[in-house]
This record gives sequence, C-alpha cells and structure tokens, in this order.
Amino acid sequence: MTAMDLKFLIGNDFEAGQDAKEQVLNPRTGELIVEVPEASLAQVDRAVQAARRAFEGWSRTTPAERSAALLRIADRVEAEADEFARLEALNCGKPINAARNDEIPAIVDCYRFFAGAVRTQHGQVAGEYLAGHTSMIRRDPIGVVASIAPWNYPLMMMAWKLAPAIGAGNTVVFKPSEQTPFTALKMARILAEELPEGVVNVIAGRGHTVGNALINHPGVDMISLTGDVATGKKMLDAAAKTVKRTHLELGGKAPVVVFDDADVGEVVEGLRAFGYYNAGQDCTAACRIYAGKKVYDRLVADLTSAVSSIALGLEDDTANEIGPLISLRQRDRVASFVNRARELNHIQVTTGGEVMGQGFYYRPTVIAGAKQDDEIVRREVFGPVVSITPFSDVDEAVTWANDSDYGLASSVWTRDVGRAMATAARLRYGCTWVNTHFMLVNEMPHGGLKQSGYGKDMSSYALEDYSVVRHVMIKH
Ligand code: NAD
Repeated sequence: MTAMDLKFLIGNDFEAGQDAKEQVLNPRTGELIVEVPEASLAQVDRAVQAARRAFEGWSRTTPAERSAALLRIADRVEAEADEFARLEALNCGKPINAARNDEIPAIVDCYRFFAGAVRTQHGQVAGEYLAGHTSMIRRDPIGVVASIAPWNYPLMMMAWKLAPAIGAGNTVVFKPSEQTPFTALKMARILAEELPEGVVNVIAGRGHTVGNALINHPGVDMISLTGDVATGKKMLDAAAKTVKRTHLELGGKAPVVVFDDADVGEVVEGLRAFGYYNAGQDCTAACRIYAGKKVYDRLVADLTSAVSSIALGLEDDTANEIGPLISLRQRDRVASFVNRARELNHIQVTTGGEVMGQGFYYRPTVIAGAKQDDEIVRREVFGPVVSITPFSDVDEAVTWANDSDYGLASSVWTRDVGRAMATAARLRYGCTWVNTHFMLVNEMPHGGLKQSGYGKDMSSYALEDYSVVRHVMIKH
C-alpha cells in the first residue's frame, strides 16, 4: 500500500487521517502491514457537511442517472477485480480464490442489481380519497446516511450498503471497520470519479472514536450498521437523541435442523462448506446443528472426518479453502469458547479445538453432544466451530432452534417436502433454506428478526429501507 491509497474521500478531496494511528495486521502472519491514521473529529464533521451539501443535487437526479452511476461503479470494480481481491485477501487473510471468484462477482452484481431496481420502483396509485382532492404517494430519499461496516466481508458490505442508499438518492458517509480499510479506500478513488462531489465520503477509524462521532452527528439522518448486537444498541441510543432512522444488521447463530430422513452425505457436504466458509466469520454460518436421533451418530462421524480435511494455512494459497481469523483477539475469543465447552463432561471435541502455528489460524472444529443451554449453543462464536445437538421430535427441534436471541438465518434438511415447509413456517428467522444453507442472491432480502436487527440488505426491500413514503395532496 502506498501512502496515497490510504487517503480518505471527503467531498472532492483526498486527505490522510489526522488522528491516532491504527495498526492493520496481516492475519496470516500477525505482522504489521501498515498504520492508518484515523479521521479527526473535524474530518468527520467535514465529511457529514460534504454529504449534506451533495444531497440537494443528488436527491433530485433521475433514477436513470443514478442507475448509470451504479453501472459505471460495477464496471470499475469488475475491471479492477484482481487488485480488489488481492487487497481483500491481504487485509482479511481470505484465500485469494474465495475473494476473487466468490465475492467480487457478487459485489459487481449487487451494484448492477440496484442499477436495475432503482428504475422499477412503483409507488401506490394516485387517487381521490377525499372528494375534490387527489392524493399521491412518493418514495423519496432520507438524507445523509452514516454507514458503518464490519470486517468479515469489507467490500461486499460496502456494496450492500452503498448501492441501495445512493440508488435511492441518499448521500453517504461510509466508515469501514478499522481492521479492514483497504478495499474501501481503494473504492473511494472510483467513487470520486464516478459520482458527484460529496455523494459518498469515505473515512476510517475506530468505532468508539470516529464511528461514535459519526452516529451522533446532528447532520446525519440515518444510521446503517452491519455489526455486533452490542454495537447496534449503541446506534439506537445515538439515534434516539435526534430521532435518526436506523438500519441494523446484527449477528446470528443459525440453527440447522437435520431430520432423520435427510441425505446425510449432502448435509455433511453442506455443513463442511457453509459452517466454515470465511473461517466461520459469517453471521449466517451453519453453526448450531440439531440432528434427529437416528442420524446423529453418523452425522457426527462423517462431519468430523469431512471437517478435518478442510485446507487452511497452506503456502500455496490457491489450495486453501479457508483463512485465519481476523485478529488475535478474535482467535483467542474463539479458542476460549471451545475451551469452556470442552470442560463440560457431556461434550466431545471430535476434531480441531486448537490454534495453529503463526498468524491467527484456528483449526476447524466440531463439538458433539452439546446441550441447548450450553454457551457454545447459545452465543455467537464467529469462528470455524460447529456444535451438534441430538433432538427427539420436531417440536423439540423447532423450540430449540427458535430459542435464541438471534433471528437471522436457519436451515432445514429433509427429503419430505411437507415437513420442510411446515418446519420452515415455524422458524423465526429472516431466512430459512431447505436442503442447503448460506446461498444469497441480490434479488432476495437478507436481514433478521429479534436481536439480529431489522434492516434488509439486497433486494428491492433494501431500497424501501433507504427511502421514505411521502403523501402529496392536490386540491382540485
Ligand atoms: P462491531 O460491531 O464490533 O463493528 C462493526 C462496525 O461498527 C465497525 O466499523 C466498528 O468500528 C463500528 N463500531 C463499533 N463500535 C462503535 C460505536 N460505539 N459507534 C460507532 N461505530 C462503532 O462488529 P465486527 O466485530 O466488525 O463484526 C462482527 C459482527 O458483525 C458479528 O457480530 C457479526 O455477526 C456481525 N455481522 C452481521 C451481519 C449481518 O448481515 N447481520 C453481517 C456481517 C457481520
């Protein structure tokens, strides 16, 4: 990274951060990559002011104009896909193939989806609801959005947040996670060229300093966060002061209900992929398995051997299936969850359960015999750790699956379509997959219930979240 790549975008200007330096570490080695000075309070303020000024013009552009901008941004990301993937792999430790072949195409598609979607939004029909008057409904942008992203999919979360927000006519101050600013800062260069001044501003820094100043800024109309539940609650506190709108996508602890008639081979293949992708640092990760008593033993045995073959930490990165955790803190947090679980007599760690050599790697882990009240079943680990719990009947499985503070994602595995549908209908999760898990498409909404939050990302529902319904009435 050159010094130039680390500059923030404030209005039309590229500026280095003016406050404390934040270390960005290489998760594969633990070594320092670079120090990024964070934004000062004055820079936060100027970014918000720039977004406010830009709102006047941007909010009055036509959907076609905003669509064209989103298409140009998509093309630019696609053209520079290799460099974006390289930066993401460096910053997060992701295998290069995952960054390049899984994430970048989905990111490009996100901008393209919203480029199309913004041109097809329909309001309710106008009509005479009071004699002598015509009423119409408009959908208008909200204003300045403070947009705050996590470290697990930095460039993708940026796309999920920016595309619907600017597509709907809002302007944005975007803050990546302090741990993963590289792709956002590269993206800032593209945004400066493809959008009018101030429509998107990009500043970096820590949550309790830069993020806190941003969400409490009186010039911000809406706060959008993907992050932890505790962070979401801080957003709500901040929002209460000036009644800002909020869009919250918080954590998850996805239950996976495996009935006795499921195809165990497919379940194992699915869990090996969807429980451990991105080293389990995924709010939809298939991490909390409930297995029917007849399949339980075979599932534990087969999953254990499948998971022990997951490739990580190899010198040839193209052979790696997952990477390390993002930080030493995150790795130690994952390790402490597993160590506390291991102390329980009823639990068996059947594979993994240990840190690996250098960097922030943790071995993919299966925890068998877990009980509903165990911490490992209840709390979000956000690492490559899957627990399995046997259940007796469908009511017990559904009760346990729903017995969680989280409500983001879930899945049901069975050959019986009726059982799948009946179970899916009872699950209190924003998404339920049947005989798969984890699959997202830009046309469909992603977002939670309960403490997982209520903001929808992707799909036309995101455009609704980033816009407001207004009534205009005309006297004849
Ligand atoms: P985090 O909440 O610690 O940080 C997220 C962002 O919020 C970062 O940019 C951080 O700097 C900022 N932040 C932290 N404290 C803040 C404050 N007081 N004021 C303003 N900003 C603040 O989360 P993380 O550790 O980066 O990400 C992991 C979490 O995100 C997990 O809980 C995970 O489940 C969740 N997540 C949810 C989704 C989803 O779609 N629901 C997607 C990805 C991650």
